[in-house]
Amino acid sequence: MYRSLPVFLLALCLAAPVPALAVTLPVERYFTNQTLKGYGTVVDDAYHERHRDLFPNNGFPNRFTGIHAAVDVEFTRPADARREVPVRAVTGGTVIYVDDVAGYGGLVIVRHAKPEPVTSLYGHIRLRDVPVKVGQRVREGQRIATLGAPFSAEISGARKHLHFGIHKGPGLDIAGHEQTRERLLAEWYNPNDWLRRHGAMKTPDPAPTATSASSPEPATEPATEQKTTWFDKIIDWFRNLFS
Ligand SMILES: [Zn+2]
Repeated sequence: MYRSLPVFLLALCLAAPVPALAVTLPVERYFTNQTLKGYGTVVDDAYHERHRDLFPNNGFPNRFTGIHAAVDVEFTRPADARREVPVRAVTGGTVIYVDDVAGYGGLVIVRHAKPEPVTSLYGHIRLRDVPVKVGQRVREGQRIATLGAPFSAEISGARKHLHFGIHKGPGLDIAGHEQTRERLLAEWYNPNDWLRRHGAMKTPDPAPTATSASSPEPATEPATEQKTTWFDKIIDWFRNLFS
């Protein structure tokens, strides 16, 4: 009886479904508001010329060129200027960076072990409002920042938008642009592909104001909820015993 117990438990572990990891979108209107720089957008002098209105002072002193390694989610409508836009951790992890960086203003980076080792970058946030500290564990959907005021020093003079990147591997990399496509592909995931691959389709914080409620939202599927039952807990306990 007792000799067969480990075999029985092992079979139980293998048969048990692994709960899906919860992954969410980092900000409201995440897909609909990607209207300017996407992952892989080439930003050169001609680009700055075409978008003069978006770069007061012609982009100086933070006029970057290169290949955009993230997506920009825009909050440039007048109604968005003074509204608080919360930024949320896309999945559970550990905060590894909270600082002011030229070009970003406030920047928060979270390291994730699951669903694979990556870091997520959240740029142009209001540093003085960041409610998390380096070393702190955060859960999926937890508010980790607020977008900074448009064209203010707190976001390095940028328009109000979230620069959101997914860096491959656990290493710290604060780059917003890469100089070659090879480097881009080696270092950075397309954030939209990454989020879709991990089931994040639901926008957090459904539009809280009448103005934003009138904007169309993409058809969304509810994110896969992580259900933890007493059975899952027992399975996890046994897994830990055998691992
Ligand atoms: Zn950007």
